[in-house]
Order: sequence, then C-alpha cells, then structure tokens
Amino acid sequence: MRDLPPISQPGDQHQKPDHQAPVHREAEGTGTAANSLSGTPTLPRAVLCNPTGSPTVPHRPSRVGPNTDLKPLALKRQLIPQVSMDYPLIPASRPHSPWGRFDPYDSPEDREYVGFATLPNQVHRKNGEERCLGCIFLSVGESGLGKSTLINSLFLTDLYKDRKVPNAQERIDQTVNTIKHTISIEEKGIKVRLTVIDTPGFGDAVNNTESWNPIEDYIDQQFEQYFRDESGLNRSNIQDNRVHCCLYFISPLGHGLRPLDVACMKALHNKVNIVPVVAKADSLTQAEVHRKKMKIREEIEQFGINIYQFPECDSDEDEDFKKQDQILKDSTPFAVIGSNVQVESKGRKFRGRVYPWGVVEVENSAHSDFLLLRNMLVRTHMQDLKDVTGETHYENYRAQCIQNMTRMVVQQKKCRWVELWRLLKAAL
Ligand code: GDP
Repeated sequence: MRDLPPISQPGDQHQKPDHQAPVHREAEGTGTAANSLSGTPTLPRAVLCNPTGSPTVPHRPSRVGPNTDLKPLALKRQLIPQVSMDYPLIPASRPHSPWGRFDPYDSPEDREYVGFATLPNQVHRKNGEERCLGCIFLSVGESGLGKSTLINSLFLTDLYKDRKVPNAQERIDQTVNTIKHTISIEEKGIKVRLTVIDTPGFGDAVNNTESWNPIEDYIDQQFEQYFRDESGLNRSNIQDNRVHCCLYFISPLGHGLRPLDVACMKALHNKVNIVPVVAKADSLTQAEVHRKKMKIREEIEQFGINIYQFPECDSDEDEDFKKQDQILKDSTPFAVIGSNVQVESKGRKFRGRVYPWGVVEVENSAHSDFLLLRNMLVRTHMQDLKDVTGETHYENYRAQCIQNMTRMVVQQKKCRWVELWRLLKAAL
C-alpha cells in the first residue's frame, strides 16, 4: 500500500512503536466480475418464497463482544509480492457454541492492526478442517458517498489505486456494473482473503429504476455457481464466491432513506446480509446523526426491510458483554467517516480529516461508529455473516431452485403425456 500523505510535517517523536508486529498486505489486483457463467445453461431463477416477509434466521448463539476502546491504527503498511492463498470451502454450518472473546493481541501495546488475528477465534472446525478465512463484501451506494475511502480505511489498504473517476456526463451514461477487487492480507501470521465488489454507476443515472438488477444478478450468479459446484463431482474443492455482506451507503444529506434505497435494499435483503451505513457522518452534528439513525431505523421497519440481524446475546452472558452487544445493536445504521490521509495533531498521527474548525479522527469512537463497524465486520461477526449467508440466504435460493426444477420436470412430463395421447388419438 502507498504511504498515506501526511497533512502536516511530522514532529517525528511519534514513530511506530518497536513492538508493533509486521503486517503484510498483498494486493491481488482488480478485475471486472463476470456477469454471466459462460458455457453453462441457466438454472431456473430462484424467486424467494418470502420476498416481502422476514427471512427465517435461526437462533444464533452470542458472539464475541465489540471492542470499542481501540487506539488509532498505524497507517503505514508494507506491500509484499502477490502470493496466492488457499481458499478452501467448507460447507457452512451454524456453530452451536459461542466464539469466545479471547483476543490474543488485544493488549494495550499491541493494538495497531485491523484485527484479523482474532479470526481464528471465530473459525469453527468441521471434520478436523478449518474454515477458510476470508469474506466477500459488496459495496453499494451512489458515487461520491465515500465508499472507496471507507473500504480503504476499514482494511488499511489502497484498493482503488487504478480507479478512474468518471465525470458528470460519463456518470449519467454509465450503466451499473460490478467490479471485483481482491486482496490477500496477512496480519500476525493470519492470512485473510478479502474481496470487495464495487457497483459503479449505481444511483447515478437520472432514472435509476431497477438499477439494482445487475447487483441482484451478481449475487444470484454466485449462488448459482455454488449450487452447480455443490451438485458436481468435486464437491470438496469448491471456490466460495457467495457475497457475505452488503455495505449499503446511505447519503447523510437526505431525510432518511430515499425511494431508491428502499427499493434496492428490498430487492437484495433476502439474498445478502445488508449492513446499512450513513456515509460522511462528519457532515452531521451529533444530534443530527442521532435523529437520522432513528428515522432510518423507523423506515427500515416501516418498509419491511430485513437488514442483517445480530445474533442474540445469551442471557447468562456477563453484564459488560451484554452492554457492548447492546451498543452494537443500537448503533445501526453505523454513522461512519473515512479518510485516506494521515493527519498529525497535538503530537499524534491518525487517519482523519482536517477542517478549519478542527480535526475528525476516523478511529475515534466519539467521532463516528467506524471502529464499531470494523470490529463487527472483522473481529466479531465475520463468521456469523458467512454462516447466515450459507444457512439462510443460500438455503433459500437452493430450496427455490430445487422447487423450480421439480416443477419444470413435472411440466415436461405432462407435456410428453399430452403429446403421446394426441399421437395415440391420431393413430386410432
Ligand atoms: P465513492 O465514489 O463512493 O467511492 O467516494 P470516494 O471514496 O471516492 O469519496 C468521494 C469524496 O468524498 C472524496 O473527495 C473523499 O475524500 C470524500 N470523502 C470520503 N469519505 C468521506 C467522509 O467520511 N467525510 C467527508 N466529509 N468526505 C469524505
């Protein structure tokens, strides 16, 4: 990753501490995601049984509590040559025991990392094999909402080096497509493969009707591919490209959700875990953030949108854990701030944004929900996002596919009998 440009000249008494363990980031490049599965006949499209109601989410045990008191992270990251990583797929199965809260690197002198090292705490073993460490995120929202900046801030990387920002005219003409970015990240010996699917063009046209279709198609294609692979011979070696989480960016400027947000989230909510975020929260006062969150939560309820539901906290958990769990739940939609620059203020360096009246710190919990979001996505709920994807969204798709296929076979048989009967009648 590139070094972030410092805003002010460093005083240099605040270098990275010596104890900081090396963190490697492996940029694996970007590519346009295939929008069709070439050479394969299309499976009957799964239309979910319950498109408007809530999908059935089985009870999940409580997970690791959010850790809100982290110090700002070091921004300087070293790029090392691309190394491909094994990405085995183990079929998802909901764990039946809590993940535990033990974070081996959560000591005060060892905090300058994203938190991937905690992932093994979330990894469950099945048949003695570990689940893969990796997650696929979908980033949806209109241009300019700070999606790329937030993704870079979340994973301390620079995924969008080669991005060409379209001008106003190009944006109007652009149709929505999907672009896949993959990086392999190694942190404290733990390798994680992260994939971010961008949806440039979404929400930018004058008429945005059905502009979520390409996104919906992309999610379905990944389910379809997985369904084919699962039904094939080489089941033990399936590449899992199903989308685990959709970060849905809501504009800080409107009054709650726009019709496009409602329509898009409703189109996707039974296919992917939607995590709504209010973008550019630094453009709102604290009271406005609070009001906006309340309004969005109300609208989510009113329009029957099924966003990602955090697992329930077990009643026998300790009070501190329950409190942290409640803070996380109450923070939805997360009000976030992103920044690609390193700021120095009062002798401290941090990722932030400088204004004439002051400085906002991305990783300061008093300024935004950024840390809550990152901890949730990486440290505490990544495995749960994958479990819900496999056991709720994919299972819905699969059940519907099987139902459609059965219906097609019955229909074909019926047609054959009718044809036979007609031939018989003609012969007599
Ligand atoms: P994208 O088109 O949604 O990917 O948006 P970008 O990440 O390219 O950001 C667009 C502009 O918004 C850039 O100038 C960013 O510096 C700025 N930006 C990004 N995040 C924030 C934020 O949290 N607050 C503010 N005020 N500006 C932001």
